[in-house]
Order: sequence, then C-alpha cells, then structure tokens
Amino acid sequence: SFKRRIMVAPTKTLCPYCGVGCGLEVLPPALPGKPVTRDSLGNPMWQVRGDRNHPSSKGQVCVKGATIAESLEKDRLKVPMIRDSLDQPFREVTWDEALDRIALQIKKVVAAQGPDAICMYGSGQFQTEDYYIAQKLIKGCLGTNNFDANSRLCMSSAVAGYIQSFGSDGPPACYDDLEETDCAFLIGTNTAECHPIVFNRLQKHHKKNRNVKLIVVDPRATSTTKNADLHLAIKPGTDINLLNGIAHLLLRWNKFDSLFIDECTAGFATFAKVLKDYPPELVARDCGIRVDDLEKAARYWGESKKVLSLWSMGINQSSEGTAKVRTIINLHLMTGNLGKPGAGPFSLTGQPNAMGGREAGGLSHILPGYRVVKNPEHRQEVEQVWRLPEGSISPNPGLAAWDMIVGLEQRKVGVFWVAATNPAVSMPDIERTKSALRKSPFTVCQDAYYPTETAEFAHVLLPAAQWGEKTGIMTNSERVVTYCPKFRNLTWDARADWEIFAEVGRRLGYEAAFDFESSAEVYDEFVRLTQNRVCDMAGLSHERLRNQGPIQWPCPEWEMNPQQSGKRLYTDQRFPTADGRAKFSAFHAKGLAEPPDPEFPLVLTTGRLYGHWHTQSRTGRIPKIVKMHPEPFLEIHPRDAQKLEIEEGEWVELRSRRGQAKLPAQITKAISPGTVFMPMHWGALWADDAEVNALTHPAVCPISLEPELKACAVQIIPLRKS
Ligand code: SF4
Repeated sequence: SFKRRIMVAPTKTLCPYCGVGCGLEVLPPALPGKPVTRDSLGNPMWQVRGDRNHPSSKGQVCVKGATIAESLEKDRLKVPMIRDSLDQPFREVTWDEALDRIALQIKKVVAAQGPDAICMYGSGQFQTEDYYIAQKLIKGCLGTNNFDANSRLCMSSAVAGYIQSFGSDGPPACYDDLEETDCAFLIGTNTAECHPIVFNRLQKHHKKNRNVKLIVVDPRATSTTKNADLHLAIKPGTDINLLNGIAHLLLRWNKFDSLFIDECTAGFATFAKVLKDYPPELVARDCGIRVDDLEKAARYWGESKKVLSLWSMGINQSSEGTAKVRTIINLHLMTGNLGKPGAGPFSLTGQPNAMGGREAGGLSHILPGYRVVKNPEHRQEVEQVWRLPEGSISPNPGLAAWDMIVGLEQRKVGVFWVAATNPAVSMPDIERTKSALRKSPFTVCQDAYYPTETAEFAHVLLPAAQWGEKTGIMTNSERVVTYCPKFRNLTWDARADWEIFAEVGRRLGYEAAFDFESSAEVYDEFVRLTQNRVCDMAGLSHERLRNQGPIQWPCPEWEMNPQQSGKRLYTDQRFPTADGRAKFSAFHAKGLAEPPDPEFPLVLTTGRLYGHWHTQSRTGRIPKIVKMHPEPFLEIHPRDAQKLEIEEGEWVELRSRRGQAKLPAQITKAISPGTVFMPMHWGALWADDAEVNALTHPAVCPISLEPELKACAVQIIPLRKS
C-alpha cells in the first residue's frame, strides 16, 4: 500500500455543482491491485472522495459531489454541429467551420444592426478564466455589455444589495462563522438540502452548544427547519414585513448598537421612521405567524452577541429581491452584527463559480474587479489593462437575462450565444421563452451535453470541455479560491469555454487581445484587475494555488501567507462608500408581484431537492440520483387537498395565467395552507408537461433585474374532474 500511495496521488479539485464549493480528491479508474471502477454504462469511472484539507468542507461531500464522476461519459456532445434552420437536422462540421461561421455571423450582425444585437448568456458553471475572456470579447472587443449569466436568476439581488448597502459586492462573512455564531438566522434558504455541507457545519455547532439559537424563516417545513429553535412559516412575499417587524421590536426594546450606528452607518433615522408602520400585531397578521413567535425572533436577535444571517433563492428570486437583501443588512447594521467572528449577512451562492463570475464582471452591468459599467473611471481602468482605445467599453448596462428573451421576441437580437446553461428550462414563463428562442436568427449552444432542451433551439452546437477536462479557478460562497486542474483526457475534441471565445475573438481580428498560451496566463491578467479592489486577488496565481491549496480573498500581492489572508470583510468597520459608512435602506413591503386572487387562489412556491442540480443536465444522467428523485410532485396542505377533494398521489393539473403542469399530489402539513410547492428540476427532456416555469411569471426586481421565480398565483384541477 505504501507503493500505491507513492504511485497514485489524488488530484485535488472542487465540486462543480453548488456554491458551497467542497474540495474533492479524484483518483483514476484503475488503481494498482484493484478492479477498475465503472459507471452505469460500463465505462471506466474516476473515483471521487472529499478532500479533508479543503478549508470549506473538511472532507465532507453530499450525494451530488460523491456521484459526479457518473456524469462524465453519458450523452456528451462530441463534435461541432451546424444547421441553417431549426427544422433541419444538424450536420457534423470541423471546429474551424463552426468557429468561422460564428465569426462571420457576428461580423454581419454588427455591421447591420450594431454590437448591441449580439448577446451572450453564460453560467456560474464557468471557471473564472471562461468568464473573464467572455467579458473581454463581448464588452471589450465588441463594445456591447450584453453579457449576462444564469447568476442573474440566482444571486443578482444579493450583489445589488451589497453594492447599495456597503459600496461594493462581496459577502462579508465566512464558513468559520457557522461555528462561531450565537444565533443563525436562515431566511429563504433550505440550506440542509441545497447547501448541505454548510448546513452540516452549522448543525454540528447548534447541537453541541445549547445556547446557540437557530431561526428558520420558510413557508415550508423542510429538513432545515427540523431542529430549529424557531420556525417562522411566513406567507410567501412577507419577508420585508417580518424583517421590519423584528427591527421595530429591537428599536422599541432599545436593543440596538448606537455606537456602531453613529460611527459606521448613515440613514438610520429614515429607516427608523419606516419601522413605525410595522407594529408586532400587524406584522404577525400580515405574515401569518403568532405575535409570540415574532417577539421570540426579535429576542434572539437582541440577546445574541453574534448573529449570522444566511439566505439564498427565497430572498433573491423576488420582484423586491434587492429590498429584501438590504432589509436583512439593516438588521445587521442596527445591531452591529458585522465584521466580527460569528456575525454578518451571508448570501449563499447557488453555483460553483457564481462568485468568480462576480469577480470577473460576469453580469451585464458590471466589469472585472467589482467595477460597474456606468462608472467612467472603472471603464477606463479596464480598457487600460485590455489595451483598448478609450471609449471601447459602452457606458450602458447590457441586457439582463430576461431582457435578452424580450430582445429575441422583438427580433432585436441577431446572435444569441448560450454557454453552459439551459435557458429553455430555467427562464420564467417558459412557453414565451421558447417562442422567443424560436425567433432567434442565430443561436449558438455551447455545452458538454446533448441533448438538452436549449440545444433544440440552436443553429450551432459546440462541444465544451467540463469539470476535470480543463484547468481553471473557481471561487466559492465564502470567497475561497480553488485551483481546479484538468485530470482526464478526452477521446474527442471538446474545448474549454475560454479557448472557444478566444478563437472567435481572433477570427474577428483581435489577435493581440487573445494571445494567451494557457488559462494560467488568462488568470494572471484577470487578477491585475482586482488589485486594490475589495476582491483583491493580486497575490494569487495558478502556481500559488496549485502549490499552497485553496486561499480566501482578499489576498493582495504582498500577502504571501495563506493563513493571514482575509477571512472576513469590513473588520475595520469602514466601507467602500464615499463617506466610508454603510447605508441603511428604508423599504416598505410590496408583497408578491402576482398575489393569489379568486381565480388563482393558491401561491405556488418553487425550490430544489437534495439530489438534483438545476435542470438535470448532469444529475438526470446519474442513476442513483434519478432513483432518489424519480419524478416531480406537488406538495399541498391537507386542508387545501380536502377542499379540492384531492387524494394522496392523485394526478392534478396546476394552472397559472401562463401555462400548466401535470403532476401527482403529495398531501403534507409541511406546506402552509394556501401555498403549494413544486420542485424546479424537470424540463421537457425529463418529464412530460411538468415544467415549473410553464407557470412562473417574468416580473423582475427593478434594481437587480432578478426574476420572481419563487412565487406565482395558481389554481389546481384534479385531473379526474377535467
Ligand atoms: Fe458539491 Fe455542493 Fe454537495 Fe459540496 S454541498 S459536494 S459543493 S453539491
């Protein structure tokens, strides 16, 4: 075994599913003296285990990470393919032919309609280098900011909230805070199922320390609420009522940190005025909870020295998402729960490298290094590093995710380039989305898998290399940056996303801009753009991360000891705003964009399941996970089921103003009366007529432009009666 240890050192990398960012160790299918491990198709399969030395996960993995190797062979897209129209079959072409065709189309469209007719829609599955090169191509060379990513559907409200409250994006807390907090306040997050390893760390701490409080705010009872000291099952859309209600009580009870408020913040007086409208009786009635429970939540906040808030899609995916994020931050500013161990507002990112996307400028209103396109100095700083003439980057934010769909609908988009994501399942109002995709004159779909629902709408398919097949960097929710090396060679010619973008860039005449020999060189250029910014990573490189292991930013150039790199932001209680103070906000609750009414009397809330990932491009191909979650379902409260005469397991049709889905009912008290729940993972490829986004609406938060994918009004028709 000693010999074996010498011969087979595992490759250290990161799990490519969720933003928890667990460290993995990967071993080849064949180990000396052991039988070859194989996947369900009989292909040799890499072996995966948790990396005990990864600071974020310490060896833990969930079922997705543990089974990831099962997804590497099945249904891979292996050759570029082209067709002239959607009614034709694809024909195989060479890479040169496909890339020439894309470059030619971009040139034609830019000449005829201008650069704003080009749109790229990317993904938090990208490595940072992929994100960065895409920004350089679209925002720098082509001069349009029409790059957006599926992160827009995921955490753009958190980004907007941080920028407005603190002057910069960046979650201030870290995972060690899970083990240091006195009170964890989880709102709009089913952490146990969606960020399992984060929850494991928190749960251990909670179980070990009887004084630690766990508050969970969720209209559903979930694995996350099971051991909570307080579960507030509020009505969907009443988060701001609740948060302002807690703040009202803290103010009334004199449980706020006046020193922190005076010295580190601005805008408290206006916020305090708003709070007058949130007395406990009114808040409890609006939220559908007991006054006692509201008071208990406020007491936990007021009596704890270190409060840590965690949230994800239940807050972000809302037409008032930014207001919700800022109202959470208000509570932290009011109580001084920030910039110290165990405390702070902490958004959990959905995707493995959504954080890297933020760092690299991967949304249509931002630029690399936490810059914004509207700021002339920021544009100039980026243009200088990109060696582009002044004025190359447009001052106008580009189209956000849903606006791209509207642009296609209005025939304003000439090239729609989708990479590593599946908008034909994940966008709201899916029939409208599909009809817009059908109108696209030229869609490129760059993916590791085929078929996917989005590939049905493509004119060009490009086979992308995925996890383990290219080398790059990813940053997880707590700002830990991990080197993710290539460890397997393919028998087909799939390429890294950044290489594909660079190839097209060269064909468009920007040879010098894309003169990179490796992703390490790309990363070196990227980190220069983070220097002296909140997300300073100038001290990082592929070489350093490979040799020293994962490192948390900020990590400036002079900082060579990984142990001393910054764990928390704002420990000096100064913020990157004009006056150095964090800003209170004063938002009144608006509620749901589409509240229930007599015709559509129930609220549909949507969410994720433990085993599946997003639209199942990977997990739908892993037998163990498919067995775990074989089909979609609708959770309904016994009272509503009785009213509608629905029995357990009976098939029902769920209807909204936009479409319908058919699925079996699960009658459970886990869901509140008046609310139903449906998981979001099933697209047309995996189930007939069970797409959650056939029902959802496209209303967006006016600040973050994130759609309200979490809630819409529905009615239920038992199928035997239709
Ligand atoms: Fe992967 Fe997330 Fe599971 Fe960790 S918690 S193993 S990052 S899916």
